[in-house]
This record gives sequence, structure tokens and C-alpha cells, in this order.
Amino acid sequence: MSAEIINVGDELLSGETVNTNAAYLAEKIQELGIELHYQTSVADDSIRLQKTLKRALTRSSIIIITGGLGPTKDDITKNVVADVLGKNLVSDETTLSKIHAKLKDLASTIIKNNDKVALYPEGAELLENPIGTAPGIIISEKEKKIILLPGVPIELKAIMEKSVIPYLMRYREKNFMIRHQILKVWGLPEAQVGEILEDIMGENKNPLVGLRVDSGEGVKICITARGGAPTIVQKLIEDMENIIKQKLGDYIYATGDASMEKVVGMLLTLNKKTIAVAESVTGGLIAKKITDVSGSSRYFLSSIVSYSNESKIRDLKIPEELIKEYGAVSEQVAKAMALAIKNISSADIGLSATGIAGPSGGTMNKSLGLVFIGLATGIGFQVEKHQFSGTREIIRAKTAQTALDMVRRHLIS
Ligand code: ATP
Ligand code: MG
Repeated sequence: MSAEIINVGDELLSGETVNTNAAYLAEKIQELGIELHYQTSVADDSIRLQKTLKRALTRSSIIIITGGLGPTKDDITKNVVADVLGKNLVSDETTLSKIHAKLKDLASTIIKNNDKVALYPEGAELLENPIGTAPGIIISEKEKKIILLPGVPIELKAIMEKSVIPYLMRYREKNFMIRHQILKVWGLPEAQVGEILEDIMGENKNPLVGLRVDSGEGVKICITARGGAPTIVQKLIEDMENIIKQKLGDYIYATGDASMEKVVGMLLTLNKKTIAVAESVTGGLIAKKITDVSGSSRYFLSSIVSYSNESKIRDLKIPEELIKEYGAVSEQVAKAMALAIKNISSADIGLSATGIAGPSGGTMNKSLGLVFIGLATGIGFQVEKHQFSGTREIIRAKTAQTALDMVRRHLIS
């Protein structure tokens, strides 16, 4: 049993509208344990939609079509579906009276166009639309299900939640389920992770292991397991998780939807440690991330955004000579910043970041993306030098994540 999504609308192909309906439906279908095999966007064009639907009928058992259920001339979905399936369109009285009640003050020509919304392929089941007028439609054709939903995202979601999900829950294969687990990696590029995991990756495996990259969160390893019972699927996931953890060790910083800042927060709480931050290049981003976690007041004391040299000298008491001799973006200043904020805040851990986020500001010997991150703790200090690439936003995001990763590594060592 496999599903396919067809999203109808010129605006999807012109790039005017981002296809959020596809993303939403994909997530819901996966959650139901149904395999999604194809997703196609097609213009408001009868011939092309016909071709797309005919092809879908040859390869998928559940076909969800979104958009084009409205009253205007470019709303063609129901005509095409009825045509392809050889069915007549008939009018639904309930929908018709709902439309007339809504439009009772308007001209009769407008009402006439809107009557189109009440049409549906004969024999189909109608799904109430709690928000708009166009109902959802389910057509059972032999063992295939064709589900039509309005394009307006809020209406589509409402009909999915109320009718389609309960319907598919009854219809899906009883002894089949899919589960996912995500492992997050920081500090290794995707190619290297791919090389390390080469022997466990590949098509048609169970569990299936895939990689995704996010500049702020790093490499995400997605494990997908299929099986006949929850315990079997869970075991497949856990075994694979252990194999991957053995291969990548503490490069894995989180599982599931946990973030780096959440993991660091947990470790700080567990170790009863407090932290304070002195930020230059990140302009407060590290503090923002730490305080995104509820309950962070237990371990987060303060952050000083010390952007100018004057502030570094005045607020962090960094010796002026140090900045003159080595520059604000230097190992020496990063170290001094971490030590200073630790002392000023009486924190267990002082963290600092200084660097060049660009796009301007690079020099002959200090290039764009050069960052120093300092960590001062009860047992000493360390400074890491990094050369990041990307836009200003990406360089800052990478810096914040790497700084938090240094804290994580310190706490688990
Ligand atoms: P209407 O009665 O509004 O005409 P409809 O079912 O005919 O509803 P469309 O005309 O295709 O749906 O789309 C209505 C609006 O919904 C579009 O203007 C667009 O902004 C939004 N929309 C349509 N399809 C998608 C999609 N796949 N993802 C996100 N938004 C969409
Ligand atoms: Mg429309």
C-alpha cells in the first residue's frame, strides 16, 4: 500500500506559493505508517492533470489531490477526476444550501458560479469542511482511494484532522508500521559522516539510513525502520542507533528533536554548573540559544555582548595592549574574554566568541569566517580556532553551535 500526492495550482509552479500542503501531508502520511512514494505539482491544466492522475492510478493505492475545488474557471480538479474515472458530477444539497446561505446578498451570477463548489463525482463520500464551503471528497475506485482536498492550507488541515486521518487509520494495513529516529552530529562534514556509515547505508535496507544537512544543526542521520509490530520496529531502530553511536561516538550530540542548547542545558543541570557568555561575533546569539530552553535560569547567569574594542576594554577589562598586539579576533582575546566573563559573573563556566562574520572585515592574515571560541572552567581554559564558510548568518550560527558543543564536550569528558 503506497500513497501519492498531487498538488494542483499554477502558483505552485511559478514559485509564487510555497507548497506547504505537500510538506504537511507527507508528515501526516508518514505518521500513519503509510509509505509515500511520489509527490507531483501540476498546473491548472486539464490535460496535464489528467496525465498525472492516470499515471498515479497505475502505481499508487492512495492518491491525495489538493487544490482546484473552488468556484472559478481555473478550478478543474473535480471535472478531470470525474472524466478519468468515467463518473458524472452531481450536486450535493447540503453544500448548496451552505453556499446560498453564505452568499444570499450577492448577485445571482455569483451564486451560479459558486454552485460548482457543490458538485462531486457520483458515488463519492463528502467530508465536511468546518472552515470553508468546498467539502473534501473520497472516491473509492476498486481498491484505490482518491482523496480531493481544497488548496487553502487551513481548510485542508481541518478536513485532514477531522475526516481523512481517521479514515486512513481504518484503511491502512494493520500489520505494518514505519518509525523514524534522528541522530544529530556536530563537527564532522556530511561527506565524512557518509564515509563512516558507508557499509550501513544503501537503498532497500531495513532500517534505512539517510543523511540530511542543516547549517545550524549539522548532519542529521535519519533511521527509518519498517515492520509488523511496534516491538520489532523499535528493536530495529535501537540496534541501528547503537551501531551508529559506536561508529561516531561523541560527535553525536542529540537524538530525536532535542537541540544542542537543550542537551547543554541538561548537562549543566545534571552537573550543577552555571555558565556566562561574552559574545562579540555572535552578537547575543549564544545567549539567545541558551535561553530558548525553558528552565535555563537554573544555569544561565549572564551574557555581555561586547562588540567594540572599547567595550572589551571597559566592560570585560581586557588589557588594551592585548587587543593592540594580537587584534580583537585572536586566540589571546578569546581566552581573556572567557576568563573575564567567568570572573565577572562568578560562573563555573565562561564562554566567549570573537571572529569575522563578514561579508566585509576580512584582511590578508585574518580571513572571513575566522573565529576563536574560548572556554574557561574550574580546571583551566581552552581556545579553539575555526575557519567557517558561508554567509554572515551561517557563520554566526555555526559559531554559536560550536561554542555550545565545546561546553557539551567539556561536561561529558
Ligand atoms: P478556492 O476555493 O480558494 O479556489 P481551491 O480548493 O480551489 O480553493 P486553490 O484555488 O488551488 O484551492 O488554492 C487556494 C489558495 O490556497 C491559493 O491561492 C494558495 O495560496 C493556497 N494553496 C493552494 N495550494 C497550495 C499548496 N499546495 N500549498 C500551500 N498553499 C496552497
Ligand atoms: Mg481555487
